[in-house]
Order: sequence, then structure tokens, then C-alpha cells
Amino acid sequence: MVNTLMQLIRVAAIGPESSGEGEHAKAEVLTQILNEIGFDKIERYDAVDSRVPSGKRPNIVAYFNGKTDAKRLWIVAHLDVVPSGEESLWKVTKPFEPTVKNGCVYGRGSEDNGQSLVASMFAVKALKQLGIKLNRTVALAFVADEEAGSTMGIQHLISKGLFRKNDLIVVPDSGEPKGNFIEIAEKSILWFKVVTIGKQTHGSLPNKGLNAHRIGMQVALALDTKLHQKYNAENDYFTVPISTFEPTKKDKNVDAVNIVPGEDVVYFDCRILPQYNVEDVLADVCRVAAEFEAKTGAKIKVEVIQKQAAPPVLNNESEITLLLKEALMQARGIEAKVGGIGGGTCAAFFRKQGIPAVVWSTIDEVAHQPDEYARIANMVEDAKVFALLATM
Ligand SMILES: [Zn+2]
Repeated sequence: MVNTLMQLIRVAAIGPESSGEGEHAKAEVLTQILNEIGFDKIERYDAVDSRVPSGKRPNIVAYFNGKTDAKRLWIVAHLDVVPSGEESLWKVTKPFEPTVKNGCVYGRGSEDNGQSLVASMFAVKALKQLGIKLNRTVALAFVADEEAGSTMGIQHLISKGLFRKNDLIVVPDSGEPKGNFIEIAEKSILWFKVVTIGKQTHGSLPNKGLNAHRIGMQVALALDTKLHQKYNAENDYFTVPISTFEPTKKDKNVDAVNIVPGEDVVYFDCRILPQYNVEDVLADVCRVAAEFEAKTGAKIKVEVIQKQAAPPVLNNESEITLLLKEALMQARGIEAKVGGIGGGTCAAFFRKQGIPAVVWSTIDEVAHQPDEYARIANMVEDAKVFALLATM
């Protein structure tokens, strides 16, 4: 399992939004591994994407047939990874040169989502080697584009009609270190950018221009304050019980210290409790932008990058929730609790279709960080739970 995880980490699968080439190369390696394990059927559902050299974003489905195909167990993991971030912050190893240390595999994509990719494959491999004939078919879906909205990934796969209302779906793409948290609800997601256009000028003559950077900062801080104050409800069902509104990315502006920037771009990542309407939040953002436009004379545009309204909260008693709780108790003696997170995993898209999906895995929550790692014991223990779940 460790070797397989390291083999997968070595092939970066970064989306075109982050100047990557997509998942093509990683899909080739994965297909080879799946062939070696010997699944009953492997299918490809590529989405066309002219932004990547291969022209497509691969989605792979591998089936291990049971006695009946009536109610499949699906385990859905994603192939893509986020970029390294600041490389100098990686102390243990370089992002795509995996290494093992203190019982963990380090590298970008180790925890998110390599650990679960490998755990799901090896659960099937173990069942196969033990000669266990399952009642239900197990289908593993390995999808693209999870980190940037999933249009070329799980949404593409769902549009092919592969998933049925009574299927059992697990998305092992979030969780807690004890493995005792089953996620059945997610917040709404709103990503937007604010573009402020002023007038570029010499640093010593600010009166001749309009400093877009200053106005951009003022707008960002005003949004930060306004959104936190207005949408301040708490819901203890969620691990982070409040709505979050974070200014994150900044586009680069001018190249010299003595230039007053004529353009400023700042991005926000908002995770909003389901009780609020995302459209209301967006309307407030536009209102603040308009206020500053009137006040400063700058041109201020708000552009939506991603907007996903939270799907309905899944029933605590859905079959997959109960089975997973049972498997956790039997395999590991874990009493699992059920709740919500900031989102957005592939599970949200199933829930929108009225198909119950749970999110669960055992992780230290180091995804997207420098020195990301996967704990080997977690990978092995999660594989046991998947295998047991398949037999239930
Ligand atoms: Zn992930």
C-alpha cells in the first residue's frame, strides 16, 4: 500500500486552473495498478477539456462484481491534487518526491486523496485474494477535477446515469484523526473575486492616479466585517459551527515599489451554513462593492468563481450511515458520530440528486498544507472498514 501510494504521489495531477496538466498521466498509472489487482470491469468516462494537453479529464470506474448488482457499494475518491504552495515550506521532502517517515507517507496528495484511493483498491484486493464472493457489487470511482468544482469529475460521472437512488455511496475525502466522524451535511460554497480598477501612476504622485490596491483592501475588509456580522448564526451540528468568509488569494499587481497600482484583485472563500441563502450573501457582496464604487470613483466588479448551494441535510438513519457505523464498530470498536463540515466534497453532488452519500475517512487533516502526509496505519485501518462494508 505504501509503495502504491508513493507511486501515485510521484505523478502530479494538478488542474488547469492552477496551470497543471490534469490527471491524464496519473490515470494511466492507476489503470495499470487496477489491472494488476484484477477488477471485473474497468470503464473510462473522460470529460473533454481543451485546457489540458491530453484534451480530457479522466474518470475511471472499477467494478468488483457481487452475486447481485441490485445495490452497489460505491467508494468515490479523486485523482487531482492541489499545487505545492510555497515549496520552501516543505521540510520533510519535496511535494512530489514521496518519502516515509515516522509511520507516515509524505507528499502532495498523500492524504488528499491518495490514502483513500489506495485503501479502497486494497480493500478489494484483499477480498479477492481471500476468495470472498460478495453479495453486492463494489464499484470504485476515481474522479478528476474535485479541487476546482467537479464539473469534469463527479458531476460528469453522475450525468452518465451510473448511480442509482438505492446505491450506497461513501466518499472518503474528509474525516477526523480518530476515524469517528461520519459527515452527512455540508455548507454552501461561494468563491468570488473582487476586481478594483483605479488609475496607475507614479508612486510619488498618487494624486495623479487612483490607488486600486488601497481601495481593494478597504473593500475586502468591509466585506470581511459585514459578512461575519450579518451571517453570524451558529449550528453545532457542524465541526466549524459558524459560516466562514475568508479573503484568500491575491492576484499579483505591479512589478515595482514606486508604481501605484491601477488594478487590484482579491478572492474570497466563503462556507455558509445551509440556513442562509447563498444569493443573499452574494447580493450583500455586490452592495458593498457598489457602495465603494460610489464613494471612491474606482470601478469595482464582483465575479463568482464557484457557487454551490448546500444540498439538504441527509437523514441520520440512511442505510449507508447505519452500515458504516456498524462496520466501524465491528472492525475497529469505534463509536461514530454524525455531523456536517465546510464542504465541498463529491458527496454534495450525490445529495443534490437525492442519493444519500456519506463522507468518512481517518485522517490528521493536513490536506493542502506543506508537508502533507498520510498515516500508514490510517490507510490500512480504513481499508479494513471498506472491506467489511463490502461484505455487509
Ligand atoms: Zn480531497
